[in-house]
Amino acid sequence: MERLADRLQAGEVLVADGAMGTLLIERGLPPGEAPESLNLRRPDLLEEIARLYAEAGAQIVGANTFGGSPARLAMHGLAGEVEAINRTGVEAARRGAGEGIYVAGSCGPSGRLLKPYGDADPDEIYAGFLRQTGALVAAGVDAIYVETMTDLAEARLAVRAAKAASGAIPVAATMTFDRTRRGFYTVMGVDIPAAAAGLAEVGADLVGANCGNGIEDMVLIARAFAACAERPLLIQSNAGLPETVGGRLLYKETPEFMAARVPELIAAGAAVIGGCCGTTPAHIRALRQAVDRTMSGRRPRAKETREGTQA
Ligand SMILES: [Zn+2]
Repeated sequence: MERLADRLQAGEVLVADGAMGTLLIERGLPPGEAPESLNLRRPDLLEEIARLYAEAGAQIVGANTFGGSPARLAMHGLAGEVEAINRTGVEAARRGAGEGIYVAGSCGPSGRLLKPYGDADPDEIYAGFLRQTGALVAAGVDAIYVETMTDLAEARLAVRAAKAASGAIPVAATMTFDRTRRGFYTVMGVDIPAAAAGLAEVGADLVGANCGNGIEDMVLIARAFAACAERPLLIQSNAGLPETVGGRLLYKETPEFMAARVPELIAAGAAVIGGCCGTTPAHIRALRQAVDRTMSGRRPRAKETREGTQA
């Protein structure tokens, strides 16, 4: 299989998968249970989700390892299972996705606040990310996603660890931004220029945003990255912001609504487009069709910087 890095280098735009957590909840993940415990207990569910996304046209599927760092697993009494949880998560995704599909290991926040905001020691958090990403690399991932980060210092520790675990596979780093009156910021106060520069500096091969926004704000975020980022973008949008209906969280953006914004994402430099919370295989199918339509007769990917880019 052609290396993922080569395809990105050649200017291809690839489609990633959609939400994992919301599909696991639909399949009966008990509240409060670590989703990653299913890697050991119910790998068949993860295999099924990877298969559904691959059949929908995803070219990269994520392993169910978002909370697979030792600090995060320790909150569920699973710190001793770091290697097993990350390995079985990758294996389930690989079995489900089948031939010709890339598997990305997900590496989310540690769940601890770094000093000086909290009591977590950066060296300890780095060592934890190194242990997790080392397990992902040993299991044969094609890429690592550092994702849903809000603290730039923590995101940088994770990227450094992932690059130390393997210099050979792409490492993508995305942060989660909220719309404020002054522009887009993470909850820890990181803006898009700071994220773009700070993540690239430690070696992220792709930068961008996941979660926290629907597709319209993600287009604005992508343009803001395009104005300052030297790296290709990974954009994984929610299917809108959740609304509580009858005690359940509902995400209301339809596949067609999200897919209609794909040309703008590509124009802003998105190299990998996927979904986050609330997206389903139907959303990914629509995104893939939109990417194929946009890219037919138009390659390689061109980065356009625009006037009036807003953050
Ligand atoms: Zn999300």
